Amino acid sequence: RSLSSAPSALFLSHESCVYGYSHSIREAKTQDGEGTFTGKTFPTLDPRTGEVIAHVAEGDAEDIDRAVVAARQAFDEGPWPKMTAYERSRILLRFADLVEKHSDELAALETWDNGKPHEQAAKAEIPMFARLFHYYAGWADKIHGLTVPADGNYHHQILHEPIGVAGQIIPWNFPLVMFAWKVGPALATGNTIVLKSAEQTPLTALYAAKLLHEAGLPPGVLNVVSGYGPTAGAALASHMDVDKLAFTGSTETGKIVLEMAAKSNLKPVTLELGGKSPFIVCEDADVDKAVELAHFALFFNQGQCCCAGSRTFVHEKIYDEFLEKAKARAIRRTVGDPFKRGIEQGPQIDLEQFDKILRYIRSGIESNATLECGGERLGSNGYFIQPTVFSNVQDDMLIAQDEIFGPVQSILKFKDLKEVISRANKTRYGLAAGVFTQNIDTANTLSRALRVGTVWINCFDVFDAAIPFGGYKMSGQGRERGIYSLNNYLQVKAVVTPLKDSAWL
Ligand code: NAD
Repeated sequence: RSLSSAPSALFLSHESCVYGYSHSIREAKTQDGEGTFTGKTFPTLDPRTGEVIAHVAEGDAEDIDRAVVAARQAFDEGPWPKMTAYERSRILLRFADLVEKHSDELAALETWDNGKPHEQAAKAEIPMFARLFHYYAGWADKIHGLTVPADGNYHHQILHEPIGVAGQIIPWNFPLVMFAWKVGPALATGNTIVLKSAEQTPLTALYAAKLLHEAGLPPGVLNVVSGYGPTAGAALASHMDVDKLAFTGSTETGKIVLEMAAKSNLKPVTLELGGKSPFIVCEDADVDKAVELAHFALFFNQGQCCCAGSRTFVHEKIYDEFLEKAKARAIRRTVGDPFKRGIEQGPQIDLEQFDKILRYIRSGIESNATLECGGERLGSNGYFIQPTVFSNVQDDMLIAQDEIFGPVQSILKFKDLKEVISRANKTRYGLAAGVFTQNIDTANTLSRALRVGTVWINCFDVFDAAIPFGGYKMSGQGRERGIYSLNNYLQVKAVVTPLKDSAWL
């Protein structure tokens, strides 16, 4: 269905906005007879215009505490960890089906709150969101431990148990997909959750929580708290009764939450952080195809991807042709209202990111990179930025070092493989890389030499629920998605029983 403008009906009332949370608060109320909110709200804005979409309940430390109490109670006394794994799986499957049924509302809400093209939300992200829950529903009844024939007269069982209350903090660039990467594995393994959404994009997490309850998730199992990082987020990271923390966002905030987790109760932490991914175009590449893929690798989602191919390395033999065509492609990019059909790029998420990107563009110009196109704000309303291409970029420039998180492509020239491997790896990040070549030896050499968590060869941003994602170096700790994500939410317990004649009986 084509939408020429945002839906006019505000179908999330204030009350339903806090559904996931208030549901649990009702449980908490029975303990202390109060269950009060702070009473505060914050506005969430439409990035196309900066206008208010809705006012959302603002949770802070006290609300996080109540949500943790609800999650703890649901874990210790509720049915969720004890019900059969098959029943848990059925609830997750029902939820995935509800997501498909309500995909129109979810896609519209995601675009409205985030500014991403509606076609991208509707055709790629919402189907991926449902797919992730179908995938994790499939795991729920396949989690089991081991029996080990160790030495002696003993029976050794190794149990895989849910870890308890999981704290989860997610960013604004893919609000629903990030929700699924965290909530999916935690629920499949029988945990309860307190999730803090990003303050820029609180809406879809609340809608998803409402659908999860509709699917039969028991009270208190998922508690969504909308609020800010230094208040609600910090309270969650440092909470003494949270058993595990999963975080996605900037490397700077990742360090802060890791320290909070360590200083409170040493809860284990998984971190999904920033990146400065190389996209390497080798001399044998078909230039037209390479240009298109390199363009997608950087500009997808307004450049707001942790794995964006933000350093485009091009072999010197094809550099000039590549540059001309990359510039022409960026100029052709369609930027505008993300609800309009055919729009490739919407606005950046908010004024802060918009200003930050324009500062990086100025820094590129001042450091003598060549501005090939773009570089300015687009229009006078909202947070739109022209697709921007820099050539003549050197490794030590800020635009080649820092995560810009915007529609700014930096093109660098290289001579040979050894050189490009060393330069591609010379960054504090290690999230992903793209390689474009027709030579299998080159593909194998690069994929082994690059110190990153994902290498895409002749493709980019291919995401599959079953394939792990995560970073080397300062791009994070641990892996999400696939079988690896389950271990993040499981404890391992050894139970040892004498086969006969126990000395203690
Ligand atoms: P951020 O790291 O500040 O925010 C991510 C999440 O962490 C949000 O939910 C936020 O509320 C929370 N948070 C912030 N401060 C916190 C604190 N002190 N304690 C606990 N939680 C806290 O990211 P941002 O400010 O939204 O964006 C800044 C930069 O981060 C971007 O420009 C980009 O470079 C990077 N970023 C990366 C990703 C990613 O997927 N890796 C996503 C968003 C942003």
